[in-house]
Amino acid sequence: MALVSMVELLDQAQKGHYAIGAFNCNNMEIVQAIVAAAEAENAPVIIQASQGAIKYAGIEYITTLTKLAAEKANVPIALHLDHGTSFAQVMQCARNGFSSVMIDGSKHLLEDNIALTNKVIEAVRPLGISVEAELGKIGGTEDDITVSEREALFTEPAEAEYFVQATQVDALAIAIGTAHGQYKGIPKLDFERLTKIRERVSTPLVLHGSSGVPEEALREAISRGICKINIDTNIREAFVLAARHVLEGDSKEIDPRKMLGPAREAATAIIREKIRIFGSTGKA
Ligand SMILES: [Zn+2]
Repeated sequence: MALVSMVELLDQAQKGHYAIGAFNCNNMEIVQAIVAAAEAENAPVIIQASQGAIKYAGIEYITTLTKLAAEKANVPIALHLDHGTSFAQVMQCARNGFSSVMIDGSKHLLEDNIALTNKVIEAVRPLGISVEAELGKIGGTEDDITVSEREALFTEPAEAEYFVQATQVDALAIAIGTAHGQYKGIPKLDFERLTKIRERVSTPLVLHGSSGVPEEALREAISRGICKINIDTNIREAFVLAARHVLEGDSKEIDPRKMLGPAREAATAIIREKIRIFGSTGKA
C-alpha cells in the first residue's frame, strides 16, 4: 500500500475506542520491525522520525525505507514527522513524501503556536498530509524540574478547546504527566485533566512519552480518549538489550547481522505487545 495520512487512521481509532501505535524508527531494522509487527497483528501503524532520527539517518533514507516497507505491506502505514521544529523542516519532509507531520510550537506563546500550526496546515493539507500540534509542554525525564513545576506545564482544557477551534488541527498532543525518555519512577497521569480536555475537544488526542507507562494506565488513557500513542524508548531498550546479549555471549562475533537480527526480532516483539495493549490488533 502507499503511505496514508493519519486522518483516516485516527478517525477509525477514535470511533472504535482503540489507539494507533506511533513507533519511532532510526534505521532499516527498526522500520522492518515496526512493519513486521503491524502485519503480524494486522494493525494500522504510524512510523515516525524524530529530530535525532533525521540527523542520524537523513530524511531521504527514512522516506525511502518506509515507502518500500509500506508498499510491500498489507496494512495501512503513515510516515509521520515527530516534533517538527520549523516550517522549513515540515516542508522538506512533505516534499520527500512524509504523509503526516507534527509541528511542535509548544515552546511558543499560545498565539504564536496557533499561527505556526495554521501556516503548516495551510501548506500541507492540500497535499493530503495530516498535521499534529502540541499544547502544554511534554518535557524529558531528564529535565531537572519538580512535579509541581511539571504540572504547571500541563495542557489546560479551556486552552485546548480554544487551540483546536483556532487551528482545526488533525491531532493534538497533550501534556498530562508523561515525559520523553526512561522514567526513574512510575509516571502518574492526570486522568481527570484528560477527561476534561476530551469533553471540550473532539480532535484525536496524542500521548507522547508512553514507554514506561504501565499497561493499565495506557488502557485507561485510551478509554478516556487518547487515540495515538508514541513509543520510542521501549524499542531502543529492547533493540540494544538484544544486541548486547549477543555481544556479551560471544565477544569475538564480528557479523553485524548476528547482532542486528536478534535486535530486530526483539523490537518486533515489544511493538506487537504494545499494539495488543492499544487494541489495534485486527483493525487494519
Ligand atoms: Zn514526543
